[in-house]
Amino acid sequence: MRRPVVAGNWKANLTLQEAAALVRQLMGSCETPAVDVVVCPPFTVLTTVASLLKGSRMALGAQDVFWEPAGAFTGEVTPPMLRDAGCRYVIVGHSERRTHFGETDQAVRRKLQAALAHDLTPIVCIGETLAQREAGQTLEVLTRQLDGALGDCPPETCRRLILAYEPVWAIGTGRNATPEQAQEAHQAIRRWVTARCGSQASEAIRIQYGGSVTDANATGLLQQPDVDGALVGGASLKADAFGAIVKAAKTGAAAPHE
Ligand code: PEP
Repeated sequence: MRRPVVAGNWKANLTLQEAAALVRQLMGSCETPAVDVVVCPPFTVLTTVASLLKGSRMALGAQDVFWEPAGAFTGEVTPPMLRDAGCRYVIVGHSERRTHFGETDQAVRRKLQAALAHDLTPIVCIGETLAQREAGQTLEVLTRQLDGALGDCPPETCRRLILAYEPVWAIGTGRNATPEQAQEAHQAIRRWVTARCGSQASEAIRIQYGGSVTDANATGLLQQPDVDGALVGGASLKADAFGAIVKAAKTGAAAPHE
């Protein structure tokens, strides 16, 4: 059984004070041994959130990372810096980074390899645009992104990372994939992992769904057999909604899967 993992991507939101207030609220509602819960605040508040999370079951993640360990790379934040700030996870290849900052599959590959080398668990985001879905290219796009980012990943490494299926048309739009659409894509992603890394890796790897997940739609999505958690943007800024999504992950994991 794969333990669900729910991660909150706070994006470019929250000051120190606001972040601290949110973490205090989350600590009541989001701690359960049945689900790995991760918060991914902006870089500026990582250390504050890390101190607040001491002794909590919740873990800290970052929203991006650079691939070199240190050096003359103005503006970048490296894997050892994230470890030092208390992070255990890092999101790589989010569609907002691909779209607004030109991040390529090659860059995603370097970032995920650097993260793994420094004992950070990468949450690797993939997903198609609306035009690609409407053109019937969803599986082709997912395969291309997986080949590009993970193509040469050895099986024992592959099982250590987390994949997030995030259809671009569902991110921040209020239009989530249906549970059936999510399951179809997740199943295809797991098949890719089986073909490249073997069945042990594909049974172990966790695949999150992300794209307008809310407390209202989480249950149906998280009950799908190949959906192992959620990557949550907007709703992760609301303690009640995020708590309800964590609860839905716990219930979904306990539900019988066909
Ligand atoms: C995200 O940021 O990864 C995301 C899925 O955002 P939202 O939940 O707001 O669609």
